[in-house]
Amino acid sequence: MRISELVKELECIGVEDPKTEAQLIIEHLFGVSYAKALLERDRDYDSEKILEILAKRKEKIPLQYIFGKWGFMGLDFFVSPDCLIPRPDTEILVYEAQGLLKIGGSVADLCTGSGCIGLSLLSTRADIERLVMADISRDALEMARKNAHALGLSSKCTLVECDVTRSIPEGRFDMIVSNPPYIPSIDIERLSDEVKNEPRLALDGGEDGLDIVRSLVERVPEHLNENGYFLMEFGFDQGEKIAQIMEKKVTDGVYKSYKILKDYGGNDRVLVAQA
Ligand code: GLN
Repeated sequence: MRISELVKELECIGVEDPKTEAQLIIEHLFGVSYAKALLERDRDYDSEKILEILAKRKEKIPLQYIFGKWGFMGLDFFVSPDCLIPRPDTEILVYEAQGLLKIGGSVADLCTGSGCIGLSLLSTRADIERLVMADISRDALEMARKNAHALGLSSKCTLVECDVTRSIPEGRFDMIVSNPPYIPSIDIERLSDEVKNEPRLALDGGEDGLDIVRSLVERVPEHLNENGYFLMEFGFDQGEKIAQIMEKKVTDGVYKSYKILKDYGGNDRVLVAQA
């Protein structure tokens, strides 16, 4: 199969960006880079494996789950339907965390999923003393464990199975990071078929999407050292509500200050608060 034929097949399936997906599939299966594939436009690739992937894409299984791994912060993370697929916008949270965490600090990653936030932070900040990764899903934690091991970071990591709306792992940390579920329940049905193949547990944030967010904002300060930071991702249209919640918390003296960072699309996306 030629790359142009693959693009057409993907178009017929209705994938959002057939050209990019075609390139990614060719690179994944045959190790041919984007530049090389362009030069060798007429190359005929072995169809068998391509057809297997196309069959799965027809079922709207995300490419990331088909590949079983996906890039985040320049690292490869194992992913499966047990965890959310890492998104580029989440890297904004990690970049900020890299700059804010004190030397030798401790970190907790709540609702860790694949572990991509905590582990990518740990991989670029060798001074981090320990990383606790918590998730309500045992299967997601297995994925985080696998990623910690593959990245050679296991020795500093502790995995905790818990519902963060009931309890946060014991102790105090210099930084707490989180990408909790934040999609309003009613909006889940409107998501793309691909996103609907991601775990609902990682997406559904209750009636207005903020059930877990509110609970975290409430509980996190008791688990932060003085001047510690809380960085949390939230939904593209939730900035105003988050600001309202945080204004009150700052007035009440629960947090010292907060700011909101925008994502690559210019939407409010990340809360950065200092205890
Ligand atoms: N960013 C994801 C999406 O837009 C949602 C992730 C989450 O709920 N934490 O589908």
